[in-house]
Amino acid sequence: MIYIGKHSKKFENEFCNIALEELDEHVNVNEFVNECKKIIPITIIDTDDTEDFLKQLILLPYCRIEEIYNYISNGTNVDYNNIVFENNNLRDVFADYHDCYENVRDHKYNNKKISVALTEDLNLTVCPYCNRDYINGRSDDNSGCQLDHFFCRSKYPFLSVSLYNLVPSCSVCNNIKRENVGLVSPFDDRFKFDKEIKFRYIKSKDYIKLKRKGKSKIKNNIDTLKLEDAYQIHNSEAKKILEKKETYVSSNLDEIADCINKWTNKSGKGGEIDRHYLQNLIYGKEMEAEDYKTCALGKFKHDILEYYKVYK
Ligand SMILES: [Zn+2]
Repeated sequence: MIYIGKHSKKFENEFCNIALEELDEHVNVNEFVNECKKIIPITIIDTDDTEDFLKQLILLPYCRIEEIYNYISNGTNVDYNNIVFENNNLRDVFADYHDCYENVRDHKYNNKKISVALTEDLNLTVCPYCNRDYINGRSDDNSGCQLDHFFCRSKYPFLSVSLYNLVPSCSVCNNIKRENVGLVSPFDDRFKFDKEIKFRYIKSKDYIKLKRKGKSKIKNNIDTLKLEDAYQIHNSEAKKILEKKETYVSSNLDEIADCINKWTNKSGKGGEIDRHYLQNLIYGKEMEAEDYKTCALGKFKHDILEYYKVYK
């Protein structure tokens, strides 16, 4: 439930070239693009050039991917099932595109596995769905993540190699999410993750609650990924923060900082420390949204510290 930003232009271009190379080899791209034009509105991809169409499809921003999903889910715009499926199986050209994902996934990017390069490019080392499990690669060939097709490729094969449909995640979140739709994507830059979802510690029940704003659709992430269940083992972290807050009240920290400064000045090793320096020592670094991508429980700690006004 954190935002993970966008890939670099360099990575987007190189990923696109890899995908085009594999698609050229394994898919009848002209036929595929002709079929896609029946399900993707011209307002989203408007070009007569096959390669240009594929490039745009591979690098569609997440919001455009969601627009296509809404367009075909509406049911009145396009007879999606008849175009993509035949007797409940994918039609050949869509099956080829679906299977080509494995070729793209196994293609090396600067001698690295694509999933390793992908997380490095995003500077992402923690699963964006749960913000608990580390997903960094352990070598160029050993990825620590799985790539979740946000819109699953068995139902939406034309999104099989779209970069912003590939969410690096931990295996538990990937397995538990399965084919569910209606969740908020970690690539959705329109969604205000920091405001729409907050961790709270209910002291009387010793319970971690995930509060959402109004009818926010982040509820689907919380329910589908069973995030509240996942976080109950971290109640001791919240309890520890509360205990520290009761022990080290802010005014005392000012006095402690004054004392330390006096002692260190006397011994000639003086350095000016302040309340903020001590707070960092006691509670750890104050988290910013960008830190959540590399710090397990980053958002959880941020929200608890914010609620108890620890850094005020
Ligand atoms: Zn996860």
